[in-house]
Amino acid sequence: MRLNGKVAIITGASRGIGEATAKKFALEGAKLALVDLKKEDLAHTLKMIRDLGGESIAIEADVTDRQNVEKIMEETVAQYGHIDIVVNNAGITNDAKLVKMTEQQWDSVINVNLKGVFNVAQEAAKVMIEQKSGVILNASSVVGLYGNFGQTNYAAAKWGVNGMTKSWAKELGRYGIRVNAIAPGFISTPMVDKMPEKVKEMMKSKSVLNCMGEPEDIANGYAFLASDEARYITGTILSIDGGTVI
Ligand code: NAP
Repeated sequence: MRLNGKVAIITGASRGIGEATAKKFALEGAKLALVDLKKEDLAHTLKMIRDLGGESIAIEADVTDRQNVEKIMEETVAQYGHIDIVVNNAGITNDAKLVKMTEQQWDSVINVNLKGVFNVAQEAAKVMIEQKSGVILNASSVVGLYGNFGQTNYAAAKWGVNGMTKSWAKELGRYGIRVNAIAPGFISTPMVDKMPEKVKEMMKSKSVLNCMGEPEDIANGYAFLASDEARYITGTILSIDGGTVI
């Protein structure tokens, strides 16, 4: 088991990629702190982990709220004593063409996908610097590498995530902390499932493998990057996209 005894915080863990990552990490032996907006939404992920024989707590928190984020770290340290891995997975979309995008649409996506990642990483880094070890993993996107129609806000946030990932890798390496991101292609999750069939077909055709990815494809990447097998990897944006961006 590659994450045996490691303590991992996963944000946005109630469904999609976050849920799949929680399952994979539990199977690899990690002890989990699962975070989402509503505690009751985490109930089924929590049960799944416990049914697998894993250990987990659920924390209700909004990653855009600084006090909530402090609570995530406090509850995790109170339960497990330390924090080895953070997966900054929580994210939203709120699409509109440039000239139609409202300030609310811009702010909502920047708040969760950029500021939320900053909040969680900053508070986790304080604990990890003391420990002199840790792994921070961020959710980027193909959209953070090549843009997308109707996603000005999302592209800006994910581009920002790439920049923060590389900056933090440079800042935190001296403390034994690695920082990487994954840029998923189009993955079959509730975020993508709500899109029209026509758009999904178009997305599928962008992959040279001509298929969408599954949440497990991304979870496998996070597990590798979180593990000691990736001990010499930091500052990387790993594309897992079926060759969408080559
Ligand atoms: P998802 O199915 O929509 O799940 C996102 C989770 O994040 C939900 O449980 C959501 O809670 C939670 N969340 C949203 N805002 C939050 C906040 N402020 N604080 C705490 N939790 C919050 O998304 P996904 O498709 O699995 O995507 C996960 C990550 O991968 C995102 O960062 C996304 O941008 C990135 N990504 C996804 C794809 C894809 O094709 N699916 C591609 C590239 C990148 P609620 O249910 O309460 O809203």
